[in-house]
Amino acid sequence: MTQKLQTDRDAIDSIDQQIVALISKRIASARQIGSTKGKHTGLAVRDPKREREVYDRWARIAEEHGLSGYYVGRVLREILSYSRRVQEGYLDQDSSETGQPVTRVGYQGTVNSYSYLAAKKLFSHREKTALEPNSFRTFRAAIDALVTGELEYALLPIENTIAGSLNETYELLKEHHLAIVDEEIWPVDHCLAGLPGSNLNEIFTIRSHPVALQQCQTFLARATWASTEAFYDTAAAAESLIAEGNKAVAAICSEESAYALGLDVLQRGIADQPHNQTRFVLIGQNPEPIDQRLPCKTSLRLALNHREGALAEILQSFAVRKVNLTKLESRPKPESPWEYEFYVDLVGHQDDPAVAEAIADARAHTNYLRILGTYPRRGLELDQIPSTAPVQTVGGNGDSPEAKVPITATVTTRDRTLPERTTVQLGSVEFGGSHFVVIAGPCAVENRRQMLDTAQIVRDAGARVMRGGAYKPRTSHDSFQGLGWQGVELLVEAGRAYELPVVTEVLRTEDVDRVAAVADAIQVGARNMQNYALLRALGTIDRPIVLKRGLSATIDELLKAAAYITAGGNNRVILCERGIRTFETATRSTLDVSSVPVLRQRTGLPVIVDPSHAAGERHLVEPLALAAAAVGADGLLIEVHANPEEALCDGPQALTADDLKSLMAKLEPIVATHRRTL
Ligand code: PEP
Ligand code: MN
Repeated sequence: MTQKLQTDRDAIDSIDQQIVALISKRIASARQIGSTKGKHTGLAVRDPKREREVYDRWARIAEEHGLSGYYVGRVLREILSYSRRVQEGYLDQDSSETGQPVTRVGYQGTVNSYSYLAAKKLFSHREKTALEPNSFRTFRAAIDALVTGELEYALLPIENTIAGSLNETYELLKEHHLAIVDEEIWPVDHCLAGLPGSNLNEIFTIRSHPVALQQCQTFLARATWASTEAFYDTAAAAESLIAEGNKAVAAICSEESAYALGLDVLQRGIADQPHNQTRFVLIGQNPEPIDQRLPCKTSLRLALNHREGALAEILQSFAVRKVNLTKLESRPKPESPWEYEFYVDLVGHQDDPAVAEAIADARAHTNYLRILGTYPRRGLELDQIPSTAPVQTVGGNGDSPEAKVPITATVTTRDRTLPERTTVQLGSVEFGGSHFVVIAGPCAVENRRQMLDTAQIVRDAGARVMRGGAYKPRTSHDSFQGLGWQGVELLVEAGRAYELPVVTEVLRTEDVDRVAAVADAIQVGARNMQNYALLRALGTIDRPIVLKRGLSATIDELLKAAAYITAGGNNRVILCERGIRTFETATRSTLDVSSVPVLRQRTGLPVIVDPSHAAGERHLVEPLALAAAAVGADGLLIEVHANPEEALCDGPQALTADDLKSLMAKLEPIVATHRRTL
């Protein structure tokens, strides 16, 4: 090497050092500004006008030095985006500080794989704690480690601009009820890397992940002299070159991997599609709060109720409020063939007024709606520098053009004095719609014969849903406690035989998933109305819940208990008035008939009445049932037994087959006054 070349190189090294030192100073100043913005909630994170001025000034100075304003501008753009992320870190600092010195994040692949690089990029901006990347061979292994608490987060790819959605990530999010807490966009920039000194024309084998090979078809078609070889990971393919030491083999990988491993980049930019990007989501066990001033996205998971046009109505809820949807993904429901659920990504914070209203409105058309998380919207640094045109800001949240459009007056107005009625689908039966629905069956499941006989009675009388308790909450420990799981199976069998959907009570959180897998609906008994762990668990399942009012619960407390379920995402709650404890002892409980119109005023959820447990005596059941229908209940829950004298539980209040038939006949004209049929 000549002396001159060495001197020039030394000069460049020294200049680079100064550039990095200056960037470090600039970021320190940005940090100061971030800290000020963090303390003053009125200040927006991004000031487009200021950014534009800074950018214009750079371009001007660059041109004065005879440099390209465009290229120098690009350098600035990167620095600005880095500064912005540093500042954003101050805004949600309180919420995300875990107090841990490192954050353990799982990813699929080896060191320097695209997932690893995306994790490094994301955490260099999150600035909370140091990243401890943990490599896993599969997505599932990373998620398992997250669920067992070995990791704080897992970073998984969720979509690629060429390959589309990664279904497995959606499945894992669903399976474990996980939350999305952040995202990262990684531009997939494939290069061909070889051992130092290797030459493109002397390469005979090109190895990489099959998807990467697929994405470089045009380049590979021209490299006719080389054959391809599939490898499980791009970074691992690059690593294998070093282990083998064969200059005739090259790998397709990221430039970062090539540099990190000391390989030569033989050709860069070899992907067919120059804009190949992968979006990753940072998955946590729980959603994390985030400052409303950050540019945000919100993700939802929802299942439609089966009404015509439900999907269109949901989309309309967002459209009329100018909430921009960035993604709508439909996934099949394996437990219900030809039914689908949807994943929606939208621009905005879940607490933005327009977003919150749109979600509340959309909820009415769903059986299930869960907010997977509101998280920072990444990838904006790839956008253009904002134009100098003044932008009107509404509410100061989000910096996307979409988020700045005010909520328009075209939002359909509706009568706010009464909540919109929602219907709840239980199997094939709809509550809150045109039918007054009677649920009937024994207090407790006792044996197969009893269940089949009762199912026939229920069916013949015209009741539409069958009940039966398998796990019984008994006041005395030595009373019959129910048949447990065997009882659930007998109930389901009888229901199937007579085509009646079934509802049964669950007492313990541990039993929820198992029972929900076979029963059409789950009942929460009066004694468990405030069992919040149970309510939360029921919020995550895709089954309707019959929520009974507690013995001493106010109407307000009943509604708050229902909110525990709906907050988890499960909107299918049917409220049940079953009598409350008062000073009166003439009846088992005192049926609070007024709760029906009061509840109808306060909630759109269907309301049914259980006259059996309120009455405690057979002859009182009918008049109370008729009263419930008269005040506008949406249905009844009634205990029936083929031989009440032999019943193991609540025999004195059980109706016989004839009692039930006679009650149904008397109900008919009453429900007709509410324009309903049985
Ligand atoms: C029941 O319906 O089986 C029952 C136990 O009722 P409650 O929870 O209202 O007492
Ligand atoms: Mn009972």
